[in-house]
Amino acid sequence: MDIQLDKAPCGYFSISDSGSILTINQTLLDMLLYERHELLGRHIESVMSVTNKLFFHTYFYPYIQMHGHVNEMYISLRTNAQQDLPVLLNGVRQQRDGETVIDCVAVVMRKRIEHERDILHSKTKLEELYQATNEANQKLEILHEEYELKQQELIRINLQLETMAATDPLTGLHNRRFFQVSLLTQLLSFRETGEPFSLLIIDIDHFKRINDTFGHPAGDAVLVHLARLLESMAREPDIIARFGGEEFVVILPGTDQDDAILTAEKYRSAIASSSCGEHTITVSIGASTVCHGDTDETLLHQADTALYASKSSGRDRVTHSKQLVAAQD
Ligand code: GH3
Ligand code: MG
Ligand code: MG
Repeated sequence: MDIQLDKAPCGYFSISDSGSILTINQTLLDMLLYERHELLGRHIESVMSVTNKLFFHTYFYPYIQMHGHVNEMYISLRTNAQQDLPVLLNGVRQQRDGETVIDCVAVVMRKRIEHERDILHSKTKLEELYQATNEANQKLEILHEEYELKQQELIRINLQLETMAATDPLTGLHNRRFFQVSLLTQLLSFRETGEPFSLLIIDIDHFKRINDTFGHPAGDAVLVHLARLLESMAREPDIIARFGGEEFVVILPGTDQDDAILTAEKYRSAIASSSCGEHTITVSIGASTVCHGDTDETLLHQADTALYASKSSGRDRVTHSKQLVAAQD
């Protein structure tokens, strides 16, 4: 055997058709820890474990007989120290000098197996990581959904609170707080656009008598009845609120003095002719209409003075603050 093949960087051996070792290079002898004379003439299976012998029998021989070669067969050889040596085997069956010879090369697989093990290990780790990430993502999604729901609930509760804070609990009308803010908004808008608006204060006449005669719940029912009546008569932009006790206020956007008086009169007569069960009521109304220089306080004061005038002149009537000024002049 020439030196190149003897010291080639892979194991080489040739066997006869019956499996006897005919030649073996130094590289393979070093791998198997044998001297050449110990292996020449011996059966190749003497350097294999029982399982590998069986495999060799059932796969290697039949295959190489049929196809003339075997490629990349993975097998374990057994060293002189009784240790397994995993190798990748390529074999080719050919005629030489009138005899059938099988030439084989064997490349040690240990490194590759280690690499494969490493790769497998990394793959398992990656799969675990992927699964953990997946699970974390799912948890995050659930948390996000819960957060969204809580957020919506919070928005709903906030809206409810806002409405509650601006609503009179007995009548369901806007409350005084809401009215004050609306009045300021109207004033700002008047200062910007110059479009007038008017204000009515509606006070039930002798309401105390209803309470005193029929009881507080009957009085409450009358207040609710009046609230619904006012709502049914109001236009879309009008703002009706309960000012307190048996007093209601109405902001009439886009309404001048004359229209305010007409509207107040319409309210007054409708209330006088409607009945809440066995009770009929009348109301006194004071009206005011915005002028340059007015504030929320002056407007309210003017309407209140007009209301007082309606009361003192006999009740069940409408007075506009400008009528008082005119009367004084
Ligand atoms: P006037 O014609 O001068 O307005 O007489 P009035 O009796 O209507 O006015 P007064 O201010 O003397 O009495 C108002 C009454 O309204 C007294 C109070 O007990 C009653 N009242 C205030 N708030 C409520 C309420 O929420 N429910 C009931 N049932 N009565 C209320
Ligand atoms: Mg009153
Ligand atoms: Mg009253």
